Amino acid sequence: MNKPASHSPSPDEKIHGHGLRMTDQRRAVYDVLMGKRDHPTAVEVFTRVRERVSSISLATVYNCLETLTDCGLAKTVADERGPARYCPNLEEHAHFFCEDCGGVSDIPLRNRKRPEDVWEFPQNLIIAHHEVAFRGKCPKCAADASAKAKASKRN
Ligand SMILES: [Zn+2]
Ligand SMILES: [Zn+2]
Repeated sequence: MNKPASHSPSPDEKIHGHGLRMTDQRRAVYDVLMGKRDHPTAVEVFTRVRERVSSISLATVYNCLETLTDCGLAKTVADERGPARYCPNLEEHAHFFCEDCGGVSDIPLRNRKRPEDVWEFPQNLIIAHHEVAFRGKCPKCAADASAKAKASKRN
């Protein structure tokens, strides 16, 4: 049997690694994040989780999200226009914020490049955390905008 060279720990193992348990509530929150990767806010996660676990409270959802982030199963995404969002994509990526529809999508780094291959960092710098964000119009809103521009030219 061929074993993969690097075994990446399962979500349960990651939580155990922090001396915690994957409780039903944590799993429900994690499943919601994995189920629809549209970078929901905590309140949006709460609305989705409540469809499965009707007894869960918003405070519990916040706690679960904090645990999942602390254990490296999700990342928070700062949104300068509103509350933080959550992303379960652990690959290196940037975020694209559409200024029209408010959608947030993942932008992967090309050819598995690392940030230090792309950005000119000064030497002897220690990066503890980084977050790259782009803003503009998503493909759908860009198409809508150019259709509108064409229509207004015709009038
Ligand atoms: Zn993301
Ligand atoms: Zn858009």
